[in-house]
Amino acid sequence: ETVVVLFTRDLRVRDHPALAGACAGARRVVPLFVLDPAIRPYGRAAFLAESLADLRRSLRERGGDLVVREGDTVTETMRLVRQVGAQAVHVSEDVSAFAQRRQRRLAEECERERTAFLTFPGVTVVPPGLLRPSGGGDHYRVFTPYWRVWAERERRRLLDAPGKIVLPEGLDAGSLPASQKGLLPGGERAGRERMTAWLRRYGDDYAEGRDDLAGDRTSRLGPYLRFGCLSPLELESLAHNEEFVRQLCWRDFFHQVTLAFPGITRDDYRPRGQRWRDDEQAVRAWKEGRTGVPIVDAGMRQLLAEGWMHNRARLLTASFLVRRLGVDWRVGAEHFFSLLLDGDVADNYGNWQWVAGTGNDTRPNRVVNPLAQAKRFDPRGEYVRRYVPELRAVQNGRIHRPWRLSGVDGYSAPLVPVE
Ligand code: FAD
Repeated sequence: ETVVVLFTRDLRVRDHPALAGACAGARRVVPLFVLDPAIRPYGRAAFLAESLADLRRSLRERGGDLVVREGDTVTETMRLVRQVGAQAVHVSEDVSAFAQRRQRRLAEECERERTAFLTFPGVTVVPPGLLRPSGGGDHYRVFTPYWRVWAERERRRLLDAPGKIVLPEGLDAGSLPASQKGLLPGGERAGRERMTAWLRRYGDDYAEGRDDLAGDRTSRLGPYLRFGCLSPLELESLAHNEEFVRQLCWRDFFHQVTLAFPGITRDDYRPRGQRWRDDEQAVRAWKEGRTGVPIVDAGMRQLLAEGWMHNRARLLTASFLVRRLGVDWRVGAEHFFSLLLDGDVADNYGNWQWVAGTGNDTRPNRVVNPLAQAKRFDPRGEYVRRYVPELRAVQNGRIHRPWRLSGVDGYSAPLVPVE
């Protein structure tokens, strides 16, 4: 038997149920990745290229390879299926509208070609769609009840990387995208190194450290989870801190919301008649970190510089755009999505809807006060000083209210009053 394993955002060999399933049952296994022009990699191209190179290396070490094709994923997968005479296609189940359509099309094409099509878990800790509210409904709309059930649910067994992979003979492996130097090294090896180092150093103190903006003590494992360089289930099994595990549950939560509500990127439950403000200048100032509110500007500039922003800063910059500037959350979500290395459909749009109070868990009054947040999470102003050089000379927490100081040049007045 020959099985094609289609890799998408599960770029690893360890704890990979679709790959392990193929290697356990089939004589020949063809790992495939399709560079699909329908998916824009944005600022994530370098991370993706490195992750693919790392995956190819791991597969080659086991006697296999990563076959790379370019074009429409379904068309290319089926072409390869015919070429190698595969009896089955394996894929890790995913939730975005694009991924759901891809899965449906693959299922149809495979049926037509009398090829088995099997989906496997691996993108989340608990498969999306597995947990259903007892009161009815196809998914959980509110986090806390989901968390309670999620935490109790039995986990599947972790899987080893396959020992040996046998490819059919004479297959052209195809070329990887040219590797570029990115902001963060991509791939399973780099992800595992970071995971081990971070768990050892900060893992136990996560609850105390996670909101310290300047301390930067969160894991920064987001991009590795986004591309599946790490198994979320393995990460959960290694993490001892409940607060950290809870964050992985937030990730699962938004994935199960997206499975049930793939319109999450566009559709919202705004009260009828509520309008957003069109204010191009304000949006530009927000994107460039020039709103005149130091804690907001620091976050926005961190995003531009690092392709990452601290969670606290994501919350307060997003809230600032939606609540204070009155701008449509989708404008902010697009900007984040294009720049974040961990930019992910479910997590990004789910969090934006949560902040805007327009998602499932509608709360029009979920407002974050930027100055209160600054005082609490950057009391000495170190975070702001790091990203807003115009204010570097201002000492301590006074940095958060430059409009109260005299002699601060080159930093604008706030776009809207925040006091
Ligand atoms: P840690 O604090 O070390 O957390 C570990 C992991 O838990 C994260 O890598 C992530 O996978 C998961 N996680 C943590 N918080 C959340 C959360 N609130 N929702 C979902 N998963 C979470 N996260 C993304 O992975 N991709 C996004 O595109 C994204 N966009 C966001 C947009 C907004 C407006 C907000 C408020 C949050 C967003 N988040 C997103 C969630 C969170 O900010 C990031 O996951 C986190 O900052 C990543 O840094 P870390 O890996 O150091 O996180």
